[in-house]
Amino acid sequence: MFSESIINKVAVLGMSARYDASCSSSGSKRQNTAGSTGNGAFAGICHSWSDDGRCVSLLKILQSNACSYNCAYCINRASNPIERASLEPRELAAITMEFYRRNYIEGLFLSSGVCGNSHNAMERMVETLRILRKEERFNGYIHVKAIPGADTALVEKAGKLADRISVNIELPSQSSLALLAPQKKREAIITPMRYISERVQEAKENKRQHGRPTPFAPAGQSTQMIVGASPENDRQIMELAGAFYRHYGLKRVYYSAYVPVNKDERLPALSAPPLWREHRLYQGDWLLRYYGFSADELLRGGEGNFSPYFDPKTQWALANLHFFPVEVNKADYELLLRVPGIGVKSAKRIITARRVCYLNHDDLAKLGVVMKRACYFITTKGKYCGGYPMEADILAKVLRDRKAPQMFQPSLQMVLPI
Ligand code: SF4
Repeated sequence: MFSESIINKVAVLGMSARYDASCSSSGSKRQNTAGSTGNGAFAGICHSWSDDGRCVSLLKILQSNACSYNCAYCINRASNPIERASLEPRELAAITMEFYRRNYIEGLFLSSGVCGNSHNAMERMVETLRILRKEERFNGYIHVKAIPGADTALVEKAGKLADRISVNIELPSQSSLALLAPQKKREAIITPMRYISERVQEAKENKRQHGRPTPFAPAGQSTQMIVGASPENDRQIMELAGAFYRHYGLKRVYYSAYVPVNKDERLPALSAPPLWREHRLYQGDWLLRYYGFSADELLRGGEGNFSPYFDPKTQWALANLHFFPVEVNKADYELLLRVPGIGVKSAKRIITARRVCYLNHDDLAKLGVVMKRACYFITTKGKYCGGYPMEADILAKVLRDRKAPQMFQPSLQMVLPI
């Protein structure tokens, strides 16, 4: 049993960690071994959600919230008069094991404020991980944050002990970082990110060449960006995310709607977090990773922001109507993926199904195509059933109103050549 003081520390440090969004745990294949405790799950192991909608099923906690930095947007900044607490590595390891045995959690998501300096903070987290892995033989999922500015040797140790390691980019530009988090330097964030990327690649290559299990961050690395605390638009954010995926092979970029917790004249006056914007960025990110879109084509022209009315693919389609309508019986896979309402699974099913027959609208619905969106952008056997002329303004209005095409005048139906 834990003392009241430790339970109080856990409550304080759990609350201090609640604004960190990047706690998804997918991607690890760590298997249980004889004499060890726990299993890293291949699929996500986040099963519960906090009251603000974030997944918190891992034990999500800070080693310490006694931070010496003063980031304008952060509840834990040094100038805030909040209750401070720190857990010793051995205390935190014992808590993790106890929670695991009681089936409260399936893994650990560990971060820390910069207590003392970045090296000290990272060293304490690494020691917690060492106790868990080497002494307690904990085999469950661990995601650890690397503290920018910490020694590379510590990042190396963390990568060997954790499933996933991440370095938060925090803000989308150098100028915003300088304004809102002046003690953090972009280079101190990018350097460990690059190092982790190289080590992950090296481990994969070793495994490929020699068949050895990968010893470094098998679930890869991720990062997190705060959205809405600084003036960058969605295009800048998507371009940065795209560069991270391309150059550093990140598994995920997390977007965290800025939560106004501090009064600070450097911050925008928001009454609530811009959650719809966060949602749109996740949709756009999905298009980058799985649909073959590049960041610059997603938001070319205009103000460079996603629309509150349309998902990013629909917004792109309305701005690029010259690609449409797409004949589903002939279009290649990449083009099918660009049709609103056609996802990765349904595009693959279309390719398979049309080998044996021509597909019509009814067939597409059975293959999982969301026809209430797709019908405005496709033809089947040359037939267009969108019910409206293919003009951006008209389709935008129809899609905003979300009315099914059969509710409108059938005389508008057009038949277009294949
Ligand atoms: S370094 Fe900045 S963001 Fe991190 S805990 Fe300290 S004040 Fe908060």
